Amino acid sequence: MSEFDLIRDYFHWQGAPDSVRIGVGDDAAILRLPPKRELVISVDTFNAGIHFPPETPPHAIGYKALAVNLSDLAAMGAEPAWFTLAISMPEANREWISEFARGMRELAQQHGIFLIGGDTTRGALSITVQVMGFVPTGGGLLRSAAQDGDLICVSGTLGDAAAGLAVVQQRLQMPVEAAEYCVRRLNYPTPRNVLAGVLGEYAHACMDISDGLLGDLGHILKASGLGARLDHACLPFSPALLQLPEEQRLGFALTGGDDYELLFTLPAEAFGQVQQAAGELGVKITAIGKMDKNQQGLLVNYAFSDKRRGYDHFSSN
Ligand code: ADP
Ligand code: MG
Repeated sequence: MSEFDLIRDYFHWQGAPDSVRIGVGDDAAILRLPPKRELVISVDTFNAGIHFPPETPPHAIGYKALAVNLSDLAAMGAEPAWFTLAISMPEANREWISEFARGMRELAQQHGIFLIGGDTTRGALSITVQVMGFVPTGGGLLRSAAQDGDLICVSGTLGDAAAGLAVVQQRLQMPVEAAEYCVRRLNYPTPRNVLAGVLGEYAHACMDISDGLLGDLGHILKASGLGARLDHACLPFSPALLQLPEEQRLGFALTGGDDYELLFTLPAEAFGQVQQAAGELGVKITAIGKMDKNQQGLLVNYAFSDKRRGYDHFSSN
């Protein structure tokens, strides 16, 4: 089986959108840009044994290689458009490639992003996906845009994927159902592109959480030139993680990776609207702290909320 057969069978998709004048098959793609939009581009490489355990099912590898890139577009408030795929693999195993392509394609169709080209080579298993999308001219959600007094918010729940990795690597034992849930969150993260519209309207700073909340929030603090207070009692956890001792759960959320949830800051008065809009889109969002120009760096265990008294108390501090 030649490289060309593989490309034709698995990576030359039918039903290209109008924006693709020339896609897979020529020396390069030619794309049509919509008016009043700016191009947003990101690339991520995925190496076997480093970015995913070698025994990960190919369907999940295909899914996740695209998902983490879609998450970068979501973090910018961008609308997905196209992507390229460079894949290096030790052998052309049709069953493997077919499953890989299916995982990738299912997610691509869900998000309206189209494969426009790539490269196929022999070597150690490595996948590079480059995504392209749009923001309105002058738009986009930056890490540097947080403001003093903003609420710090996250989507979904934290730490599941890190617990899932610990399960896969046999460092952690959980009840079967909880273990399966966490491994699924590791292999099939949900990129939160559905929030791009509402966050584009209300959020100040935004990024996705790929390396653990602490490090990633640090990027927003540094880029925005502000400190922050985080209330660890407010961090959102899945029922699976709530079964773990608190210290372990916090460790996964604060320093574990692979959540691919969004971390963003909002003016406090917008929180109710954003939470409701996100809820209607099926995504929970939680306020976990506050940007504070008088704080040096990040204060983590500052309990400035009382969950029993709810959000009002939280925002008045
Ligand atoms: P070139 O020699 O010009 O690099 P290739 O033989 O690598 O061309 O690729 C031929 C065509 O197939 C190009 O349009 C390229 O974008 C596309 N292509 C190659 N590999 C992939 C892939 N894994 N996914 C999508 N398109 C691919
Ligand atoms: Mg090539």
